[in-house]
Amino acid sequence: MKFDPASNIQDLLQFGEYGDVNPSITDSATYTFMQAKTMSDTFDGNTEGCFLYSRHWNPSNKYLADALAAMEGTEAAWVTASGMGAITSAILQLCNSGDHIVSSMTTYGGTFAFMQNYLPKFNISVSFVDITNLAEVEKAIKPNTKILYTETMTNPMLQISDVPELAKIANKHNIKLVIDNTFTPMMVAPALMGAHVVVHSMTKFINGKNDCVAGAICGTNEFINSLCDVNNGTAMLLGPSLDPLRSSSILKNMHTLHIRMKQHSKNAQFLAEKFKEIGLNVSYPGLKEHKGHETLKRIMNPEFGFGGMLAIDLITAERASQFMEMMEKEGVGYLAVSLGYFKTLFSNSGKSTSSEVPEELQHEMGMSEGLVRYSVGLDNDIERSYQKILKCLKELNII
Ligand SMILES: *Cc1c(COP(=O)(O)O)cnc(C)c1O
Repeated sequence: MKFDPASNIQDLLQFGEYGDVNPSITDSATYTFMQAKTMSDTFDGNTEGCFLYSRHWNPSNKYLADALAAMEGTEAAWVTASGMGAITSAILQLCNSGDHIVSSMTTYGGTFAFMQNYLPKFNISVSFVDITNLAEVEKAIKPNTKILYTETMTNPMLQISDVPELAKIANKHNIKLVIDNTFTPMMVAPALMGAHVVVHSMTKFINGKNDCVAGAICGTNEFINSLCDVNNGTAMLLGPSLDPLRSSSILKNMHTLHIRMKQHSKNAQFLAEKFKEIGLNVSYPGLKEHKGHETLKRIMNPEFGFGGMLAIDLITAERASQFMEMMEKEGVGYLAVSLGYFKTLFSNSGKSTSSEVPEELQHEMGMSEGLVRYSVGLDNDIERSYQKILKCLKELNII
């Protein structure tokens, strides 16, 4: 049967306390118990459906978590106050002092910095590999490796991780495959192809409104319960809980995610093809020249397209800056970090979201200092936006 994340979300019917179609927001930090024993049972983790304290669980957060689990096809999910809150909690839950991680060399800058600069404090080491080279990935696994970490579509190089093949490697060595699916919600369902844990920055496509930061961890009931364990759960003890007011607004936006993803993809595919036509060096997984094109085609839900992210290489940072400033003046979108917004956003990765990655490593992963990354918006008339971009390219003698 075809996996249909949008219908899975639609099929969740929540009848609010007063029959409200948008479930009432529970802005309560703590919850009453009628019997003292129920409270102590809840602390022991033995009362399903009982709420105790909002760092642990909150009904509004539960509605959102249920929608995320439905989207990813996992048993459960937990929502966090940021994507980094989700990533760091998942990693710290799976690793102990002395453990080792094999990670894609190209990941979100904050994830890279956490692994490179922060995990050594806990005596956890990381080997960075080219995630598309499966032999290199397997060779990097050691007896103390606990996690194989990657992003479905990596930032900012837009490499595609072969999730089913990586899952085979992880299972063979009895380690956990953790996948950041931020760039590809609905397009790819990593857990259904063997990923053990799926993390998200909901700040991006899932919320899509740029009005908050938030994150999520999707996995088995056992893993999510372990995260929230009052005695040793990382999420419970480090406390990156999402505010329920935010959960309820993100849940509403999740119900339009399927429509938005299709439009982001449609517009990005259009721009990528135009850029190719005029001879720019463009990277977009929807172009057959892209190294990950065939892999993505094999693992994706085709109705959602190849995603809203694309990059062009203008060689020098100076040229990239002039071009981005001019595009902003012409009204193409905003010179801003982040992605998944209804307006087009662009930034120079090397000087912004990947500035945590040392320059030598940027070169090693093939990241040019003139790389302009686009998160293509929901423009109704993308041809009109393209004409504005074309004007900038011509005025700066780029083409
Ligand atoms: C933005 C981002 C993150 C971090 O999420 P925050 O919500 O900013 O904490 C992690 N992974 C990817 C791929 C991202 O784009």
